[in-house]
Amino acid sequence: MSERVKPSTGWLKFFKERSPNYESHVSSGFVLGLINKIVKLSPITLIEWGYGTGFISIAMANRGYRVQGYDIEPRLIEYAIEARRQCFVSGIGSVEFTASHSDLKPADVVFSQGLLEHFTDIEIIGLIKEQLNYANKYVVFSVPSAEYKTQDMGDERLMDVAQWEYILESAFGDNLIELYSYARKMHIIGVISKAREPKLKCPKPECGSEHISTTTCETDDYIFHCFDCGYKWGYEE
Ligand SMILES: [Zn+2]
Repeated sequence: MSERVKPSTGWLKFFKERSPNYESHVSSGFVLGLINKIVKLSPITLIEWGYGTGFISIAMANRGYRVQGYDIEPRLIEYAIEARRQCFVSGIGSVEFTASHSDLKPADVVFSQGLLEHFTDIEIIGLIKEQLNYANKYVVFSVPSAEYKTQDMGDERLMDVAQWEYILESAFGDNLIELYSYARKMHIIGVISKAREPKLKCPKPECGSEHISTTTCETDDYIFHCFDCGYKWGYEE
């Protein structure tokens, strides 16, 4: 990681004081929503950028993915390895942890949870660009939203979807392919594509408009809405 990004020295203390629990963390709504989003992108390999406890990396390995966990704080590794010893169920998945960029091999999806909200606009853009260098297909992030209200660490920027869009749109344009609130609107997911994807079009043959909005419903499934003809449709795999 480049020098402009501050080291996360407070995290070790944070985790020690809270002694987080694997089962309750990986079954919470905002983590499951992130996991479901990543699963829908059909990756095989993953990098978790800023793995913290290592729990989400371990949960993805338990689902059969090959995961590399990266965190700038090297002292987290022993805790993550202990969590892996206790919670990883051996199978086709795997999970390794590192504090060194040079250990990372490119992966289909690079994801983070609770990372980007600790940085300035310019740092956020820089971090996503850095993550895109390691992503074969997508960068996915999850952050607490303005509805979350609590600053667990103290420096979180709790912003709404429009504020995140304002930061990301100029840097990533059409490659910002998804940005929506979820988990009772307390969290936000963003997906940035490595390659430019074909624009979503209205499926009505007589319309074909590219002026489409995306929202999520209660179950976090997508609903699309055509601005031009008013047609609405749901997400289908
Ligand atoms: Zn239409």
